[in-house]
Parts: sequence; structure tokens; C-alpha cells
Amino acid sequence: MKIVRIETLRLTEHPNLLWVHVFTADGLKGTGETFYIPAAVEAVIHDFAAPMLLGKSVFDRERHWQNLFSSANFFGYAGAEMRAISALDIALWDLLGQYAGQPIFNLIGGQFRENIPLYNTCVNTPKYLDQDGFLNQPGDLARSLVSQGYSQLKVWPWDRFAPQIESARLAGPAGWSAMGPVGHYLSPQDLRQGLWTIQEIRKAVGDKIEIAIEGHSRWDLNCALRIARALEPYDVIWMEDIIQPDSPADLRRLVQETRVPQCVSERLFTKFAYRQILEQQSAHIAMIDVIWTGGITESIKIATLADTYHLPFAPHDCTGPINLFAALHLCAALPNAMIMEVVRGFCEGYYLDLVDRPVTIREGRAYFDFGPGLGVRLRPEVSARKDAQIRTSAVDPSISK
Ligand SMILES: [Mg+2]
Repeated sequence: MKIVRIETLRLTEHPNLLWVHVFTADGLKGTGETFYIPAAVEAVIHDFAAPMLLGKSVFDRERHWQNLFSSANFFGYAGAEMRAISALDIALWDLLGQYAGQPIFNLIGGQFRENIPLYNTCVNTPKYLDQDGFLNQPGDLARSLVSQGYSQLKVWPWDRFAPQIESARLAGPAGWSAMGPVGHYLSPQDLRQGLWTIQEIRKAVGDKIEIAIEGHSRWDLNCALRIARALEPYDVIWMEDIIQPDSPADLRRLVQETRVPQCVSERLFTKFAYRQILEQQSAHIAMIDVIWTGGITESIKIATLADTYHLPFAPHDCTGPINLFAALHLCAALPNAMIMEVVRGFCEGYYLDLVDRPVTIREGRAYFDFGPGLGVRLRPEVSARKDAQIRTSAVDPSISK
């Protein structure tokens, strides 16, 4: 199980996604994925990570993780380096599972549960205009999700009232989701208008669906406290990243000064960042993004750390199909998995164009009917696409380009 070749692949059509394929001498191919500024991650993989992995054993995942991390964390626990480590780590787990003939969850802890509830993050997609829905017809949106069996939805009804970047300044790389600066004042009218979404959902379906509030770190602590207090009567399941998750002490004020549970955060990388949050009692739910925070190896540790504080984890996916499958393996195996995020329009849309199987979803729950490894791979035709950019590093330089 020696690593002989590492290939990265990105598509013009999906300018934020990057996949990595790790090939072994015995002909296996493992798949990993990450998201955001893929050219930077591609450079990290080939210029930094590949020389440390080529010729090495797939089995030694922990040593590879530590070697890559200890070399990369000179620059902190974030950035393209962590995304590269995350993608590579997932590919190594995929290879290990294929070698063992077992789904990854069986290599983590076996199957702890039969399925996991899903929640829908309400972005607009070609099939479902869910963001328009929560801004304009929240009742219809809630009824639609309840009818599909979803037990939770996630909306961001106050983002639009935070300072916005004028469209002229949005001109950046295609697909880049620019955020405006942090808001320091929220008018009573805007506070009420955001609350209207929650009231309409409750009016339409009562408590048949849980409501999570996303904040995209658009507010200062004072506004966040104001939003949280306004939400208290509606019993929302969590508020997420209403402020930047960079200060455990400030997050603890949200925990202590309001009754709304706090979910923190896909923006934290490695167990060291979660340690601060958990030790200081600054969150109720650990949101983990497998393709950002350090892959499957690190996500297991973060979830287990949360478990020692009697807290659940809830994986994040608003990005790509391999991320979703990797996270579902964690949900299958780890005892403190709470709920899994999906975007229904992605699962029923472009994910199907990219990978060779859908996630099995019935009545708003995902099932773990996975073959060996991740149990999913990119469709072979993806590599042959005209808009594919492929870069290769190999033990035998004659097959590198
Ligand atoms: Mg989020």
C-alpha cells in the first residue's frame, strides 16, 4: 500500500471545489475533497505535501497527518495547508477502507446507528429556491421540508441587514461568496423583520421542524445578544456563528446571557481550536467540517473531545459530495453525532453530476449503505471534461506533469 501518485482535479464549472486522488502501487485510488481557493490547495498538495507522502505507506495516516501538520502549522491552524491535509487524509481513509473491503465507518468504530436525521440549509439552487423561500414565503418552505421528512432547517434572516458589499466590489473569482463587514447596529424594524421568518415557520408547521439560525459571523456581540434575546420565545435549536468564533470568552457571553444554544463552528480548525471553546463552556454543539478542519483523522478527535464534555457534533456540508459522504461515515460510527447538514438542491442536483451514487435519503434521514472506503467516487467522465485542470505528482517523475 505505497503511495505512488497524487493527482488533483478541479473544474471551471465549480470554481471552489478541489479533489485529490491518491494512487497506490497496487492500483487502488482514494478520493479526497476540499473547498475554497483550490489553486492554492493544489499548490500545497503538490509542492509541499506530495514529497512527504510519495513512496510512503497508506496505513500510516496518523504519522502523515502529524508530519504535514507540524510542518504547516508554522502559519497557524488554518488556510490552504489545512484544507490540503483534510483532503489528503480523506483519500487515505478511502484507500484503507478499500484495502480492508470495509466502509470507513467500520474502521472507526463500526455502525453505531442505522441512520442520521438531516437538516436542510436553505440556499437557492436550480431545483429549490429555499433562500427566497425563507425571505418571502417561510410557511411554504417549512411545509415543503416537513413533507419531505426533514426535521430541521437552517436560515439566516438577519444577514441582509448587516453591512453589505456593493455589487461593484464583489467582482472577484467566480463562485466566491464575499461577506460584508461586521454589523454594529440592528434597527428594531430589521430585528422584527428577521423574526418574521421564524414566526411564519412556526405558524405554518408549529414544532414539526426545528429551526437553526445561521449568522455567517456578520454581527458584533451586542447585536448578536439582541438577536438571541429576540429568538428566546421561539425555542430555536441553535444559533451558529452569529459572531466570529475567534473568542471563547465572547461566545461564552452568548451562552451565559441568553437561552439560545450556540453551535460553533465550521470555521474552527483542528482539535486545538475546539479545545478552547469546549474548555471555556462557549458552545453547546460542535460543528465540524471534515474537509476544512483536518479530515477524518482530526474530526474523530474533535467529536470525541466534544463527547467528553457531554456535547454533540453536527457535521457541516454546503460544499461538495465527498465531504458529505466522509461526514456520514463519522455520523454512522461516532456516538455523539446529532444531525447532518445537507442542501437538498445539491443532493438532488450537481452532486449527482459529479459522483457515481446519490446519498440514500428517506424521510429526511440518511442511510449508511456504503461499499468499501468512502463508498463513492467521482464519475470517471469528470476527469475527461474539457474544463478539468489536472496536476500530478508521482514517485516516477516521468508520469508527473
Ligand atoms: Mg455555518
